[in-house]
Amino acid sequence: MNPDELRQSLLAIRARLGERQQFAQRDALKNESGRLTARAPTHMAEQASDEQELDMIVSRLTDSSRTLLEIQEALDRLDAGQFNVCEECGGKIGFRRLTIHPWARYCIECQRRIEEERS
Ligand SMILES: [Zn+2]
Repeated sequence: MNPDELRQSLLAIRARLGERQQFAQRDALKNESGRLTARAPTHMAEQASDEQELDMIVSRLTDSSRTLLEIQEALDRLDAGQFNVCEECGGKIGFRRLTIHPWARYCIECQRRIEEERS
């Protein structure tokens, strides 16, 4: 995978996430207005599941917003020619890793260490 291909795949992921985000927002709005107009307060169980669904949509939105940000930063790094430089150790991030995870900012060794430190 060369930098151009990497950029293509980042842009494709970004476009897809953007679409999904729009759908999720629409779903959330639809649920909100549906609940306000049609729900009787006695339907507690039903309300709870709506609540959960809304939570799920919101967390999906938050996740994809974070991913969108990561993708934007990866594109910036790509423009700066720094896309495969590990931010932690300055070493090279392998192309194999970038193929699987195009917005990776750390090499696999640093990523593992950071995850271990976090947990
Ligand atoms: Zn590293």
